[in-house]
Amino acid sequence: MVDLVEGIPILRPYIDADNEEYWAAVKAHKLVIQKCEACSRYLQPPRPMCPECRSMDTLKFVPATGNGHIYSYVIYTTDRMAYPAMKLPYAVVLVELEEGVRIVANTTGIDTEEIHIGMPVKVVFEDLGDDLTLYRFTKR
Ligand code: ZN
Repeated sequence: MVDLVEGIPILRPYIDADNEEYWAAVKAHKLVIQKCEACSRYLQPPRPMCPECRSMDTLKFVPATGNGHIYSYVIYTTDRMAYPAMKLPYAVVLVELEEGVRIVANTTGIDTEEIHIGMPVKVVFEDLGDDLTLYRFTKR
């Protein structure tokens, strides 16, 4: 679990027609990635048109392995730039999934001092209430 400060709302994803299937999968504890069936490109985050071939009706959500490695990261240690709902220190990581796309999330179950570029990670899901599930990354 990510440590949260009581009384401060957590940032929620903005759900729209382009990503509602993505977030419905997260709610079911599954990670999916949008893929263009015309040119086989993976898209992250979800969008209405393939940036490679401009197709709009060939985009499908496919299961992701949820495995990847830390491509980059930021560790928040002071409250100057941190989100106030998150207890310090906490990390925001950019994970490159095995499928080749990069995804931003927090970590869980990893001491922030252990985090390094190239660290193998896997996705996990946290239910933060009846209407909110988020994904995090932990050690693999
Ligand atoms: Zn395409």
